[in-house]
Amino acid sequence: MQVLKVDHVGIAVKNLEESLKFYTEVLGLKSTGVEVVEEQKVKVAFLPCGDSELELLESTSPDGPIAKFIEKNGEGIQHVALRVDNIEGALEYLKEQGVRLIDQKPRYGAGGAKIAFLHPKATNGVLLEISERE
Ligand code: ZN
Repeated sequence: MQVLKVDHVGIAVKNLEESLKFYTEVLGLKSTGVEVVEEQKVKVAFLPCGDSELELLESTSPDGPIAKFIEKNGEGIQHVALRVDNIEGALEYLKEQGVRLIDQKPRYGAGGAKIAFLHPKATNGVLLEISERE
């Protein structure tokens, strides 16, 4: 398993359009567009920052993971994503190491990236995403 970089930091927000104003108008970042990921019940926008990105996530449903996160913690950093070279290989390796996973297999996230989440109990309380992009 090879970690290449911090791919992005995921931030849970109540209102994506409102939040984007701060990140684009005040911080001057550029959004690569808003995308709905039905499977995860989220609407997301990515904002490249140098070699990594910020991901703003708004829930599209009251029972989605982002809605539940905000209910429990309020808005804020929800996950950190690490780019790996080979996600299938990384998941195999992590299983061999006895690391608790949320996703046993990769699924497709925003932008067609292959992603999987590790369980926060295995990562000092951080929801870690691993992602592989073409
Ligand atoms: Zn993410």
